[in-house]
Amino acid sequence: TKVLLTGGSGFIAAHILDQLLQKGHKVITTVRSEEKAEKIRKAHPGDDLEVVIVPDIAKPDAFDEVVKSPGIEVVLHTASPFHFNFDDPQTGLIDPALIGTTSILKAIARSAPSVKRVVITSSFAAIIHEDHLEDPNTVFSESSWNPVTIKDIHNSKATAYRASKKLAEEAAWTFVQDPANNVKFELATINPPLVIGPVAHYLNSLDSINTSNARVADCVTGKWKESGPAPTGAALNWIDVRDCALAHIKAGIELPEAGGKRLFTTAGSFCNRGIYEVIRRNFPEYADKLPSPDKKGGEMPPDDKRYSYDASETDKILGIDWIPFEKCIIDTVKSLKEVGA
Ligand code: NDP
Repeated sequence: TKVLLTGGSGFIAAHILDQLLQKGHKVITTVRSEEKAEKIRKAHPGDDLEVVIVPDIAKPDAFDEVVKSPGIEVVLHTASPFHFNFDDPQTGLIDPALIGTTSILKAIARSAPSVKRVVITSSFAAIIHEDHLEDPNTVFSESSWNPVTIKDIHNSKATAYRASKKLAEEAAWTFVQDPANNVKFELATINPPLVIGPVAHYLNSLDSINTSNARVADCVTGKWKESGPAPTGAALNWIDVRDCALAHIKAGIELPEAGGKRLFTTAGSFCNRGIYEVIRRNFPEYADKLPSPDKKGGEMPPDDKRYSYDASETDKILGIDWIPFEKCIIDTVKSLKEVGA
């Protein structure tokens, strides 16, 4: 199958790319710079991969050319900002997330008739309700939608990020449902919560670690030593990056029944203290970087202070035996060692 993968330099996309090539698919991936394109080409020599530069996904015509490459059957759109280094949430987050999504869908509908399935990397951020994260009577599932609106993007950087994901996903479903757009492909979204896992060593350094792995990096580099494990935050679900990548491939290529679905891919709940404990048990060489066990912090909130969730529809469709937390953290730390931790 010929697949277009956007944002090939990303943490999750690097695993999608690996798995696609391993399974014998042909891939065109987009990145923002020639520098990253070269690193990816070097890591994956051979004829099955083409790396194309799309400098700015916030331009409405960003993807017009690349989608015309003949014979693309599946598009996996992962590119979207996930960091908090911006001043203006509109231009820093919302525009690339939202225009990136609508521009690729428009381009496909207009000029890529061979595309049968499009998978967009949405997020658990598009599912949650910020005011209900500590409510034990709330059950988040594939049918839950974050009520956040564009008016809320100046509340906090976290809210702005969540809005970028919600608005982009909503725009995607709206686009495919509008008969005027003459859409011939099916859409599916992957809605992962916090994604943790090994980093592609050819793209990363310890200082440029992606947002969702930062807490593991913080733990092994001594940032929690004096304070104890950092507060986890109120969104407590997680998934291993290799399973998140596999979910994209199953939904895009392997499972017809994933068409039209939102897939809430999660392996369970976690807390930062759990990350610390796995590292303490398995990596004695980091002992002098870690807080002592009597330092409090990062604990799992009690049951009556956290939401519950139901991802059974997704589990049934994907049938993935999720990688357990302990293995995920161990493999993540090993990969951080390779980049200098
Ligand atoms: P990364 O930051 O590693 O990857 C983001 C990707 O998007 C990179 O390829 C990046 O390019 C590209 N990108 C970001 N901003 C722009 C922009 N303005 N224009 C063009 N390209 C851009 O993060 P992840 O791999 O974690 O994220 C991938 C996707 O998964 C995103 O859609 C994110 O929202 C989603 N997601 C991630 C979760 C997580 O916990 N990691 C959880 C839920 C969803 P470059 O390398 O050049 O910066």
